[in-house]
Amino acid sequence: MIKAVFIDIDDTLLDFGKCAEYAMRESFRDFGLDFNRNMFPVFTEINAGLWHRLEKGEITKSELYGKRWVTVLGEFGIAHIDGSEFERHFQKHISDSAEKVDGADEILKYLSSKYKIYAASNGPHEQQIGRLKKAKLLQYFDGVFTSELLGVQKPDKAFFDACFGKIDQISPNETALIGDSLSADISGGAKYNMKTVWFNKNNGTAEGLHPDCTVNELIEIKNIL
Ligand SMILES: [Mg+2]
Repeated sequence: MIKAVFIDIDDTLLDFGKCAEYAMRESFRDFGLDFNRNMFPVFTEINAGLWHRLEKGEITKSELYGKRWVTVLGEFGIAHIDGSEFERHFQKHISDSAEKVDGADEILKYLSSKYKIYAASNGPHEQQIGRLKKAKLLQYFDGVFTSELLGVQKPDKAFFDACFGKIDQISPNETALIGDSLSADISGGAKYNMKTVWFNKNNGTAEGLHPDCTVNELIEIKNIL
């Protein structure tokens, strides 16, 4: 019997793409740079690649933050702006952005009426709390676990060890993990014997993994949990 649900934040509850595009546009404005929408996919690709390397343990979080805007700005031939300084502006604007994924309110309201709800995110702690609060979603959570808070990240076993260390009397097989990322969420949750619910919003393939359930819309989770 499921007693608690862990749920990822970015691209599961909050639309990271919309938030990041807003933050990129605002940061370009801060530095007096011209922004056009064709630039955003360059960030998306570089950012996704770096997060993937982070999940595999090839780079640290601070290396990711240190590298990503140096790399993106380099792609645009913008050499006179310090990537670390740009990263600070980007982070500030991300903190201000809380665009929700469709159905986020409804599904959290539903799940929180039946289960304990914990956020499980590889994002920065205060930033994620602030964004959930701004999106008026924080009220549904019994706890927010972030890699920054715990010192380890999904999909590492140590991340889930730390989460369960903070929850009394609930074992992994009494929990479900909902997330959009096969590498961070589904792989991590499956290895930890949690019921995995893949939020497959882009109609992708499971790449050799076997989520217990797959949904294309958050609201479909009502049929599962
Ligand atoms: Mg995610």
